Order: sequence, then structure tokens, then C-alpha cells
Amino acid sequence: MPKYVPVIGLEIHAELKTKTKMFCSCANGYELKDKPNENICPICSGQPGALPTLNRQAVEWTILVGLALEAKINLQTKFDRKNYFYPDLPKGYQISQADLPLAYQGKLSIGDKDISITRVHLEEDTGKLLHSQAGSLIDLSRSSTPLIELVTDPCIESAQQAKEFCQRYQQILRYLEISDADMERGQMRCEANVSLQEEDKFTIAGAEVKPIAGYHLNPKVELKNINSFRAVEKAIEYEIKRQEKLLSQGSSISQETRGWDENNQVTFAQRTKETAADYRYFPEPDLPPLAISEQLIEQLQATLPELPQKKLNRFIRQYGFSEADAKILVSDKNLAAYTEQVISELIGWLVALPETEGTAEEIWQQEGAKLIKLISNWLINRLANHLNLAKIKVNECKITPENFAEFITLVYHHKVNNLAAQKILAEMFKTGDDPSDIMTAKDLGQLEDDNTIETIIDQIIAANPKVVDDYRAGKENALKFLIGQAMKNTQGKANPQTLNEIFKKKLT
Ligand code: ZN
Ligand code: MN
Repeated sequence: MPKYVPVIGLEIHAELKTKTKMFCSCANGYELKDKPNENICPICSGQPGALPTLNRQAVEWTILVGLALEAKINLQTKFDRKNYFYPDLPKGYQISQADLPLAYQGKLSIGDKDISITRVHLEEDTGKLLHSQAGSLIDLSRSSTPLIELVTDPCIESAQQAKEFCQRYQQILRYLEISDADMERGQMRCEANVSLQEEDKFTIAGAEVKPIAGYHLNPKVELKNINSFRAVEKAIEYEIKRQEKLLSQGSSISQETRGWDENNQVTFAQRTKETAADYRYFPEPDLPPLAISEQLIEQLQATLPELPQKKLNRFIRQYGFSEADAKILVSDKNLAAYTEQVISELIGWLVALPETEGTAEEIWQQEGAKLIKLISNWLINRLANHLNLAKIKVNECKITPENFAEFITLVYHHKVNNLAAQKILAEMFKTGDDPSDIMTAKDLGQLEDDNTIETIIDQIIAANPKVVDDYRAGKENALKFLIGQAMKNTQGKANPQTLNEIFKKKLT
């Protein structure tokens, strides 16, 4: 059997969170409504004679996405009617963009691979069908929600890459604060085109896969119903295996649309597409062509925030975070901002404390690596755990960056041991209180008085002669037992490292 390689393209729709819908003054945000059809008017419910007015914000945000993806912007653009009949489409056509999308030829890097983007355009969402035993019902509240459609070139090579692309794109939409892009809530919807082609028998020229010499391209399958990043990966993986098997059996692949069955983790045939549907696109007569000025593009360009990829590189370079940690920290813009606030507060704390000497720069040069490790550990592992359990984001958390930085200094200066630190963080998370106050109030400070520790250790040695003999006879575990006893006697406030040292000194 010849060697086949996957050829994958993505089509991603994302809902914009503009105040109002795309062509009327109805409020946007259908999912916030309690009842169906609460949020409609003659325009978005497609009444004859109702005229659309274009939402400027939606146009600007689409351009912004284009700029974030380093795409070209069409200065002369327009809207077109995409005609098809389906009950969730009240007008019988969708207002979309055909040959002049707002943005085209962009790219998004994943690791060291550039995924090229064919186009980014603006269109309106449809209503929602609700199927029940009694029949099907239509909710038009979602109808005419502004939707950005992004199409990639078929240059994606694996299921993993496709998933990563979707995640990166979601991050960008969230950084721009123009869409919540939550896949589980249908605010971001991914479709994938998947085909297998013989290695070295085709080239990818922009949006097109072209055969070399007499090679016949295998048809592509369109995957729908994908509701999570995990499903993006699983559905494509499954589809690659399915097509591989068919080809190895000498069977042909039919060009069709397949759905992803989340329960059974398989794709299933939905409809076969012999040829592309004829949407009879024509320019929308109720909206004038749109001219985009260079000036507007410049204005929008100036509002672009630092984007995830750039921030990631900076976090590694400037602070010395590991790539894995930096990836987690920049995955959420607020978490990244929180981290930087913590670092800046932390340096302030260290300069002010008598335990550390030197200027901010000197401290950072000497201790930066250690501090960054502490921050990574307590932010990514511990705080994130609290956030996940409480199902909130870092910006909704009661711990201020200042208090978090103070907390890190307590750990850094061994004022508290690990166990006590966890208790303090849990309390801070609950109340938002100052970590030093919690430490004092709950008596969680590390026992630092060597005399007290020695007295306790002498008592334990006297009370456990057999264990002491075991240790002296070479049983290392015996020492662990003794340290455990000492931790118990000090209510966990001693430093296990110190106990270890003193026991060893006394027992040899
Ligand atoms: Zn409306
Ligand atoms: Mn579309």
C-alpha cells in the first residue's frame, strides 16, 4: 500500500459579543434569554420588507481578527446572499460574504509551523431548531447574531495540529475580547475537511490541493457536530483511521458530510455531497458595498493587544518561565496579567524586607530563577486547583496580586512550611485576607526556635529507644518515623529539613 498522509482544512465559526445583533437593534446574547423567541424583531425574524442596517462594531471586530492573523484587508468589500432552504433560516438566505471577504491570506503559527488562513469573513447566524416528540420548534433568538467565519488552507497535517489551531484561535478571540468562543456553548464551532492523499503525489497551492502528474485525488470528508477541542482531535483521528482502512481494502471513499458521535466516539454519514451545493450567491441589494479606509485599519491596528504567541515568547525570555508553564500562564489573558502583577509586587516586597538585601535588579538576578519556580508552582498547581474547584477565573478570585506576592515571600523566606502554606492559601482564597494575618491568627508560622525544636527532639529520642536502635542499625525508615513524630508534636509547624538535620546530628 502506498503511504498516505492526512490533508486537513478547518472552518471555524465564532459568535461576536457585540451589544446588538448584526442588522437590527435586538440585544445580542441569545443564550442569556430564558424563553425562546424573546429576542426578535421584524428584521432578524426575516419579515418581508424589513431592511437591515449593518453593525459597525461587527465589521471592525472582523477586521481586528484579520489584523491579529496578519491577513490582508479588502478595502472594497460587500455582503452577499447565500441562498438555501432550511427552517432555521427565516429569510431563505443568509447574509454572508462570497468573493470579497473582509480579510484574506493570513496566518497563525503553531509551534514552528505556519498555518495559512484562506479568509476571514462576517456573516449572520441562523435560528435554532428544537426537536421534540410533538414536532420541531424554531427559536429565532440566535438569528442574526454576528458570526466570524475563518477558513484555513488545507495545510494542516494532523489531528493534534488541528486541535492546537482551534485552541490558539480561541485564545486570540478572547485576548481581543470580541467573543467568549466557548465551544461547549456553541459560541465557537469547528468543522474539518479531511482527506488522505498519497505522499509526494500532490501539492497545496493556497486553498487548493493539486494532484501531480496523473494522480487522482481522494475525495474529502467534511466533519460536523464537533463540540469540544478534544472532539476536534478525536473526530479527525477517527476519520484518518477510517479512511486509511478503506483505502487499504481497495475501497473508495465517498465525498460526504459526517457527524461526530460523542457517545460512541465514531463519525457517521450524514449526507453525501456529489457536488458543492449551489447557493446562487449574489450581492445583497439591501446593503451598499462597503469601503474600508486605510485610516480605520491603522486605528484598529493600534488597538491590538500583545497576542498570546508574543506574550509566550516574552514570558520565557523576560522571566525565565519554562515553555510548558508559560503556555499555561498566557492561555488566559487575565492569568497572564495577574502573573505579571504578582512578579512586580513580589520584587517590591523583597526590596522592602530586611531579609533580602540589594536593589530590585540584584535580587532578581540572584533569586529570579528560584522565585519564578515558586510562582509557577503556587500559581499553576495550587491556585489553579482552587479556581477549578470553585469554577471561577483568576480575575474573579479574592486574592489580590499584592497578597499573593506577600504569600510567596512567606514561602520563600521559610516563614511557613509547605503544609502551612497550603492552609494559608486556602484561607486567602476563601476570605481574601492578608497572608501574614492568617499566619498569625491561625498560628501557622514555622517553628524557628532551635531550643524548642531540640527539646522536642530529645523527648522523642528518649521515648522511642527501639526506633533509635533500628536507625543506628542502618534502617533509614526509622528516621522518617521519628521526624513524623516531631511534626506531630509541633502541629506540623517545624521544617522537616531542619528536623532531619538535628536528628541525624544527635543520633550519630
Ligand atoms: Zn432583531
Ligand atoms: Mn458560514
